[in-house]
Amino acid sequence: MIENGWFYERSYKGQFSMGWKVKKHLHSEQSKFQKIDVLDTHAVGRLLLLDGKTMVSNLDEFVYHEVMAHIPYMVSRTCKKVLIIGGGDGGVVREFSKHTSIERIDLVEIDERVIEVSKEYFPECTSALDDPRVKILATDGFAFIKSKKDEYDIIVVDSTDPEDFASGLFTESFYTDVYNALTDDGIMMNQTENPFLDEWGVKNIYSNMRKAFPFVQSFTAPMSIYPGGFWTFGFSSKRHLGTHINPKKILEMSTLERDLKWYNTDWHKGAFAISNFHKKKIGQY
Ligand code: SAM
Repeated sequence: MIENGWFYERSYKGQFSMGWKVKKHLHSEQSKFQKIDVLDTHAVGRLLLLDGKTMVSNLDEFVYHEVMAHIPYMVSRTCKKVLIIGGGDGGVVREFSKHTSIERIDLVEIDERVIEVSKEYFPECTSALDDPRVKILATDGFAFIKSKKDEYDIIVVDSTDPEDFASGLFTESFYTDVYNALTDDGIMMNQTENPFLDEWGVKNIYSNMRKAFPFVQSFTAPMSIYPGGFWTFGFSSKRHLGTHINPKKILEMSTLERDLKWYNTDWHKGAFAISNFHKKKIGQY
């Protein structure tokens, strides 16, 4: 894993690589589901790896976690109950917990060892996991969602890449189950990979989302630790477009956003103005 003091993540069929100079290999274990490693690096601080793939770093975790939580929250008309599938590092839970009107946050993470390792090495991400509104279920999100009907206002799919036990989380049947589990105003968020390297067929992922949701949009935010650094996110909704910010929430966010590191409502409004390349890659053209 570490060559001459450097960790290299290889992706895109082994034809693409990014590297980080390592200070210390802090943790390594094989869980029931995957290999879990934590590195301390010079450039991005602590780095969580699952099966040798970068997941979370001290440097830029806030970008991913803030956009996945605050964009759907600010559009939603009612947001009492939230579900996060995956997300065992706790970062998305942390961001939702900042909204006092949310009454319940369910975290469905297949591998509880990811949660335990994150508690030890990424306490700033797991800081809200003991919030009384948070319920943690160590189970497969693909199966869990099938029994849910009209229950959640927002569902965030914060998963690994579309392979192995995560592959089902990018299918039409899963997105249809998510649609059914959402309330009439419901919104789904998911991470949809890098369209430049396009290792997983971004167009196919969006075509599956469109088969389940009437409104499907995409935006991008920089994630320097992910292959190529250019990452996309999906916003799928039953009623509202991603730019339809709920005017009743502007005042609440105007206070909160001063303490946020990435998100603000101006950035939100601009995020959905995407390039022709991006539109073509997600099949919008
Ligand atoms: N932000 C990261 C990314 O975009 O690559 C993902 C971070 S989060 C740690 C991903 C989590 O999804 C992992 O902990 C993994 O165990 C979990 N996961 C993958 N497939 C799952 C499934 N079917 N049900 C529940 N959790 C799953």
